[in-house]
Amino acid sequence: MTDLYAVIGNPIAHSKSPLIHAEFARQTDQDLRYETRLVPLDGFVAAVAAFRAQAGRGMNVTVPFKVAAFEHVATRLTDRAAAAQAVNTLKLERDEILGDNTDGAGLVRDLETNLGFSLAGKRILLMGAGGAARGVMLPLLEKNPHSVTITNRNADKAQALQQQFSRHGKIVAGSYADVADQPFDLVINATSASLADALPPLSPSVFAAAAFAYDMVYQRGQTPFLRFAQQHGAARCADGIGMLVEQAAESFYLWRGVRPDTAPVIALLQAG
Ligand code: NDP
Repeated sequence: MTDLYAVIGNPIAHSKSPLIHAEFARQTDQDLRYETRLVPLDGFVAAVAAFRAQAGRGMNVTVPFKVAAFEHVATRLTDRAAAAQAVNTLKLERDEILGDNTDGAGLVRDLETNLGFSLAGKRILLMGAGGAARGVMLPLLEKNPHSVTITNRNADKAQALQQQFSRHGKIVAGSYADVADQPFDLVINATSASLADALPPLSPSVFAAAAFAYDMVYQRGQTPFLRFAQQHGAARCADGIGMLVEQAAESFYLWRGVRPDTAPVIALLQAG
């Protein structure tokens, strides 16, 4: 019988997950169907229960339900989902619902494997302190960078993240003014500013020689942050398409036990 999966969110029409998972299934010969589920803001928990009753095997969870999936749905959590306090992948089993968070693993795999940028010993600047930033903290720190500096418009949220993860590595937190004029090897934009065609108030001097600039947002054409980075000395730039495909591959692996080849799927999305 064909196994059923879905991505659940609101909005959901823009999601590239059905295309990505269809490609993974075709490539690995897995008999599965992957759909979208648009649910009202107060209907998430009921929608997961209904999907499970339909014999659904797994779900990707996206905006704005990742915290609700963590708090109200998962009956068991992976370490990285517990650290992120957010769930983007549910594995629906007979006796339990496993909650995982594959965003950070997706980012790290894109940086290290696809883009050839080793994180060990690097000075990392992470802009943003929302769900995406929280989700990538543990996987980044596990790669033994020199330090992770978190900056956010609301600096209190950056401080809270620092406190939450301080036992895992060297973490500094502050406002955009606090981090101005320090050089970083990797600057990650984990804010949603690019979606509004905006740029965080970042100093142009944060890019060390050979710095890498990474925007988690992906869009047609360059994001405002990547344009800014290129103008101010970043040697390499990448958007979040690779992270998107890699986090999907990590979910697919959790569900099916098979690791798909991500390179052709990234190329497909970049071409489209
Ligand atoms: P949240 O809403 O949880 O957090 C948004 C963050 O962006 C906050 O830190 C907020 O700062 C900051 N922000 C928003 N606008 C601006 C601005 N104009 N200037 C400076 N900071 C700003 O969102 P998420 O953390 O869930 O997601 C962040 C982005 O990452 C999204 O755009 C999402 O699409 C992308 N993403 C990409 C993934 C991928 O696979 N490529 C996976 C997950 C996320 P403040 O706290 O001060 O309001």
